[in-house]
Formats: sequence, C-alpha cells, structure tokens
Amino acid sequence: MKALVYRAPEQIEVAEVPKPRIEKPTDAIVRVTTAAICGSDLHIYHGALFGAEGLILGHEFAGVVEEIGSAVEGFTIGQRVFVEAGLRCLVCEACKRQLPLCPNGGIFGTATPWGTLQGGQAEFVRVPFAQRIMHPIADHLADEDVILLTDNMVTGYCAAEWGNIQPGDTVVVYGCGVVGLCAQVAARLFGAGRIFAVDRLPYRLEMAKKVGSIPIDASSEDPPTRVRQETGLFGAPVVIEAVGARATLEMAFQSVRPGGTVSVVGVFTEDATLPMTMFSLFNVTIRTGLATGQCLPRLLAMVENGELDLKFVFSHSLPLSEGARAYRLFDKREEEALKVLLKP
Ligand code: NAD
Ligand code: ZN
Repeated sequence: MKALVYRAPEQIEVAEVPKPRIEKPTDAIVRVTTAAICGSDLHIYHGALFGAEGLILGHEFAGVVEEIGSAVEGFTIGQRVFVEAGLRCLVCEACKRQLPLCPNGGIFGTATPWGTLQGGQAEFVRVPFAQRIMHPIADHLADEDVILLTDNMVTGYCAAEWGNIQPGDTVVVYGCGVVGLCAQVAARLFGAGRIFAVDRLPYRLEMAKKVGSIPIDASSEDPPTRVRQETGLFGAPVVIEAVGARATLEMAFQSVRPGGTVSVVGVFTEDATLPMTMFSLFNVTIRTGLATGQCLPRLLAMVENGELDLKFVFSHSLPLSEGARAYRLFDKREEEALKVLLKP
C-alpha cells in the first residue's frame, strides 16, 4: 500500500509499504478515505518530537472498516468510521484515570517512548483497541464533518474546559490555527463573553472573525497591552495558549488577571520559564496537557444534529500522492493553508 513516510527532518515521501494486518483480536484495519494534517504533525516533520525513520505519519483520519479482529464487537466490514488520535486500552492506570498517552499504545503516527504506532496518512491503518476508539459515522455526514473530532475540536474543548470559563468571561486565545479556532468555538459553548483571538497571519485572523472572535494581530500590536486596555488594565480571567511557542506562552502569562487561569494546549518542543512571582502572588492557575476524549459524545451529538459545523477550516484537499507538497504548504502557510486534507 501507499503511505506518507517520515525519513528525516523535512524529508517525507509517499512510499510503498506492507499493508497492515490484524495483530491482536482487539485490532481492526481501516481503509482510510480522508486524513488531515495537524500542527502536531509539524513538530514531527521538523524533527523536533516523536519522529522516527520509517514512521507513517498522521493521527487524524476517517475511513471504512476493512477487517475486524475477533474481539471487536458492534462493527461491520464496510462501515464508515472515524478514529480517536490516541489509543485507550481502558485497563492500564493511565486509562483508568482518563489520562492520555496510554502506555499500551500511544498516538497514531508518533514514535513515543512506549513504542511506535503507524499513522493514518496511508491507504490502510491498523487500529488497536478498535472497539474503544473507533466511532461510526452517520450516513448523512461526510468525513469532513467528523474529522476534527479525531483531535482538534476535542483539544479546543479541553482548552476551554481547563480555563474554567464562567458565563460572560473575557477569553483570550493565542493561536488561530485550527486548534485555536476550535478553542474559540468551545469557549462560546462554555458561555464566554468577548473572545480575543491572537495570531500574526491576516487570513487566519479573518477566520477568527468568522467564529465571532475579536482579532488581535501580534505582528502590528502587543497583544498583552491590548488585552489590559480592553479589560481595565486587569487582564483576562481566562487565557488559552494554542500555539506551542515560548513567545505566545509569555504573552499568555502577561494577559491573565490575578486569580485567572492560563490553559495551555500548545505542544512545546522548547522549554519555557514560569513567572512564579506572578503565579504565587496573584493566585494564577496554569493547566496543561494533551487532550482527553470525555467530551467526544457531546461534540459528536452536536455534529450529528447540525449544531457544530466547522468545515470552513478546510483550505486544501489533496491526493495522498501529493503528501510532501501538502506538508510544505501547511508548514510554510502558502496559499492561505489552514487545514489540509489528504485523500488516499
Ligand atoms: P498551526 O500550526 O496551524 O497553528 C499555530 C498558529 O499559531 C498559527 O496560526 C501561527 O500563525 C500562530 N503563531 C505562531 N507563532 C505566533 C506568535 N508569535 N504570535 C501569534 N501567533 C503565532 O497548528 P494547530 O494545528 O492549530 O496546533 C496548534 C498547537 O496545538 C500545536 O502546538 C499542536 O502541536 C498543539 N496540539 C495540541 C494538542 C493537545 O492535545 N494538547 C492536540 C492537537 C494539537
Ligand atoms: Zn492532531
């Protein structure tokens, strides 16, 4: 089969690799019909995190059940499904505590310290613990309706939930990639008042306006200064970091008010310093981590009954054979790339 394979930093290629097989009774094989590229894939692409020579990329995908292991119940061959980005065995201590990064699995398309799990930017993918993390797609929905439920919308929801948003609260979101945009949409679900959205790419700030946020262009003004002006020099009660860079994290710290919360879902490949003087004197809370999927049933129900439609974020849909170009476009922000889909 064909798959998008990581070789070395910024060197990926569509290669012929063995088609995956059922290895355990709890596995399924999915024929991928749509995969998406995430900001997290860029960390691997840059050689900064969780890459390995020969790794098949991709943790966001939907497709059709091709084969099912004998212990997977409730699914039929030919059924359309989407798959959560990370595995959940549900028996290990991490899964029992609803933590991500199950040591019996990890995340698709990453080489974690617990092992390498091949990803879904490929014609086929092996899905361990399929019964737990595969979800049927309703007939009236397209792959595009549900693919953000594999990761980005769940992450955005966690970002907002961790912010402990109270009705009417001003929320500042650093980053208007799809994770940041999803966090803005989710902040509304939690009853946020004004939402300020920070980025430095005008076309992404336009997207933030589309979801009702007030854009702040970090390339032409200092976001923390603006936030303090807008909030009576006090800062915002809730600040979300959805970039994963020291610069935006520092600005997030400068934007939060005493007693507020900084919720960080950006994934970092560099260390940063916590301003402990401010945190300890002003009772600021910081919350961070990988998203966990408890909100998925709520979000899926909203997609199914038409209350949540984020298809406007898809800027490109390219054949898998153009995978290398797709990564370049997304990485270099060419052609106003926002969410890039790959079709095997
Ligand atoms: P993305 O690369 O599309 O978006 C990042 C955005 O940040 C871009 O729009 C960019 O212009 C903006 N940005 C970068 N530097 C900036 C600066 N100095 N000032 C203002 N804006 C700046 O990525 P994405 O898919 O939206 O993902 C965002 C982050 O979330 C990544 O770090 C990714 O790894 C992480 N992520 C985390 C989880 C989780 O479970 N915690 C899940 C998915 C993704
Ligand atoms: Zn992702």
